[in-house]
Amino acid sequence: MTGIAQIPGVRPASPPRVERTRFCTRCAATAEDPDGQAVPFGFDRVCGRCGMGVMLTAPRQVLSGTGAAIVVVTREGRVSAVSEAAEPLVGEEAGLLGMPIGSAVTSEEGDDRLVRQLARAAGGGREVTEASLAPVPQGSRPARLRARISSCGPPRAALLVLERASG
Ligand SMILES: [Zn+2]
Repeated sequence: MTGIAQIPGVRPASPPRVERTRFCTRCAATAEDPDGQAVPFGFDRVCGRCGMGVMLTAPRQVLSGTGAAIVVVTREGRVSAVSEAAEPLVGEEAGLLGMPIGSAVTSEEGDDRLVRQLARAAGGGREVTEASLAPVPQGSRPARLRARISSCGPPRAALLVLERASG
């Protein structure tokens, strides 16, 4: 435990070992790294809390806690999971699975940049980046979202952690 609050931005140098946390793709429950658990390998892939999501790992710094609005994107740039908390922001998982991420969100910094950020993360890149997004279509959804983007897996994929942007 550290007393340091969330620090925005990207660290100038990658630490030698990234603190990782496990999370459920559906209810976004978080848990300690499997190293700290006496769970036989292979028995803990499905979330024990909701029984629906798959447990993946991601850098601890991108997941602020249980219940996050999470979207998982494959190396091909397609949506592979939408957590419950993300559905009010970008739409229901059932309608987004397998769809290009561009059909769910657009980036204010350019969709090309977003695609590159996601590809780098899905390729195992260590850096955590940020993006300002807007849901597509808008409808009753929030106008703007802030996203932190990192790698997750296995299998390797990109993780977006979404928050409503104020203003
Ligand atoms: Zn779950």
